[in-house]
Amino acid sequence: MISVEEALKSILGSISPLGLEKVNILDALGRVIGEDIHAGRSIPPKDNSAMDGYALRAEDSRGASPERPVRFEVIEDIPAGAVPQKRIGPGQASRIMTGAPIPEGADAVVRMEDTRKEENTVAVLAEAKTGQDIRRAGEDVRPGEKVISQGEIIRPAEVGMLASLGRSFILVHQRPLIAVVATGDELTDIDEPLSPWKIVSSNSYSLAALVRDCGAIPLQIGIARDQREDLVAKFGAAMRADLIVSSGGVSVGDYDLVKEVMKEAGNRVQFWQVAMKPGRPLAFGSLGGVPVVGLPGNPVSSMVSFEQFVRPAILKMMGHANLFRRTVRARLAEGIKKKKGTRHFIRAQVRSEGDGYTVATTGDQGSGILKSMVRANGLIILPEDVAAVGAGGTVTVQLLDDSLSWTREPGY
Ligand code: AMP
Ligand code: MG
Repeated sequence: MISVEEALKSILGSISPLGLEKVNILDALGRVIGEDIHAGRSIPPKDNSAMDGYALRAEDSRGASPERPVRFEVIEDIPAGAVPQKRIGPGQASRIMTGAPIPEGADAVVRMEDTRKEENTVAVLAEAKTGQDIRRAGEDVRPGEKVISQGEIIRPAEVGMLASLGRSFILVHQRPLIAVVATGDELTDIDEPLSPWKIVSSNSYSLAALVRDCGAIPLQIGIARDQREDLVAKFGAAMRADLIVSSGGVSVGDYDLVKEVMKEAGNRVQFWQVAMKPGRPLAFGSLGGVPVVGLPGNPVSSMVSFEQFVRPAILKMMGHANLFRRTVRARLAEGIKKKKGTRHFIRAQVRSEGDGYTVATTGDQGSGILKSMVRANGLIILPEDVAAVGAGGTVTVQLLDDSLSWTREPGY
């Protein structure tokens, strides 16, 4: 039996980031970019107006006030998108809209609110400073500047930046194909007629959902019977994936054949059993070079083990640098006990309270109690050497989702 850290090290050591593919910038959302992006142009491309108003020479407006307006001859109208045709000379102004290029000769914009329109002139009611309300060419991005670095995650802001640089396609790390194989003679699929002796293979779906939640592509292989031939056939079908995740068949029962298949020619078992609860009977190895994580069969064990080992592996394949869920320290609402020697992952509900967090378990911690997972947004992690933590004690909680990032009311 090995520790959680050793298991993680062993798995991540066998996983490398996938290659790159060219995708449309909108499809790149959430993906990890595989190239540095240097600007090939200035943004904005030209000096342009930050306001609706009048472009003029700041020095000509000296002393202007509502009581002593300074009058300018209006020589042109420059809507956004237009190219100015006339040069601004002394005492002249052009009416200009936000985003329109600044005409030659002008060095300031006076906003509409500080002017009064007259027949062929405009009365300027406030003195302008040089450069006022002009957005300078390149003030956002200068040509050659590095704006996005390899390894960063593409968010909506990056998509917008790429668009303004004229990039419609970029290189990102590929999304891995993750095969999900359930094993067990007691299992049936959702829409098959249910007999009292059968249980629905919920793992086929919870694990596929977890795969998708990581941003990878699930390949649903279905249910393998607890027979060598069927396991070999189903694993064979799974081998076109980048990683195989199975559930069940890794304990010490007579029909737990997953390890046996992983020991056959061309395959390999790297380790079996991790000192954790739930999730102890976990096997890791490879089938003909494809890494395989044999998760335990119980619905909670498979999900908790996926979170600890498979998610980081998938994120690594996708080029991510941050592979692990965030943990917080939280005040325990009730006392909990455990046996020493293994690390416990206890399903829990975390809430933010004041400056910190409080946490309570979600009830029965049996590894078949999926409801306790449904109610959980975190896992309390109790270390190997701990036997009990009293109510009010502080524990580490791994956050399972971003529910704590959202609130009913705006925070202002
Ligand atoms: P095993 O590790 O194969 O002994 O499975 C342990 C228990 O987990 C079984 O008795 C089932 O109740 C449950 N189980 C196994 N596979 C699945 C599955 N795909 N979906 C839901 N429950 C499962
Ligand atoms: Mg089984």
